[in-house]
Amino acid sequence: MRQYSPLTIISYIIGPLLIITSHIGSLIVFKTGLSLGAVAWIISLYLIRMLATTGIYHRLLTHKSYRAPAPILWVGSVVAAAAGQMGPSWWKAHHLNHHLYADTYQDPHSPYTPTQNVGGFYWSQGGWLLSPQFFPVDLPPDVEKDVVLRVIDRLHFVPLVALGAISYRIGGLEYLGAFFLSTTLLFHGVQTVNSLSHISGDQPFYTDDHSRNNRLVAFLTLGEGWHNLHHAFQASSRHGITIRAGQIVYLPDPTFRFIKTLEYLNLASKLRIPGESALLASAKTGEFSLATGPTLKP
Ligand SMILES: [Zn+2]
Ligand SMILES: [Zn+2]
Repeated sequence: MRQYSPLTIISYIIGPLLIITSHIGSLIVFKTGLSLGAVAWIISLYLIRMLATTGIYHRLLTHKSYRAPAPILWVGSVVAAAAGQMGPSWWKAHHLNHHLYADTYQDPHSPYTPTQNVGGFYWSQGGWLLSPQFFPVDLPPDVEKDVVLRVIDRLHFVPLVALGAISYRIGGLEYLGAFFLSTTLLFHGVQTVNSLSHISGDQPFYTDDHSRNNRLVAFLTLGEGWHNLHHAFQASSRHGITIRAGQIVYLPDPTFRFIKTLEYLNLASKLRIPGESALLASAKTGEFSLATGPTLKP
């Protein structure tokens, strides 16, 4: 286990405190009501920050499923930090461990391995963030050696607080409440990948974990719910792929569209996508296409 400095511990703990604050702050909208503009603010902040979480933190920073200039990674990381998703080192450390130990006791947030007997869904949907497992075992060296990313990591709460201040400045208490509500919805949207996408959905590809393709999660997370494909092909920039009747079928994946847009603008290159033969070789045949009960790895 890595030894964290007192300042890093304080910096990291601010993260869950701000998420709890967002939950409570969301109640402001019951007092102020929501104008059309405030609803648009909620939706815009949700979509932009979700894209930064999925397209930058997940598919670029963690899995390197495409290449992009450093400023794209830096700016995207600031936006993802403004989502309340913590900093790039913290995020990547936990996510790599999730893949390395998926659905075993070393997985930080598997619904099958709650460490406090509080119930799998609650644990994977956020309970793990309020446990000692909140602190990563170690931080990824490649992120730590990038000074810009390291600064964003330790000051991850600044973009989130700044966005709250901007919201208040734009529209007073109503927009501050809208910001809190958007942040809370976003937090739970992202967490459904850890919970529902390991509990419910189909498994068109062979993996040694419980990852599922879940349509609702894919809708909420702009394509991240096609999680069985992602566990089977972690380096793929495209998650929306499945197999039906032996045929490859492409599914809605707005995050992949975002990456394609970056590519069109010459801001992304070398998109990694599995070939058809690799996809078919990993596909389950019909009678095994639905998940059966959990069988944990040792
Ligand atoms: Zn997973
Ligand atoms: Zn991943």
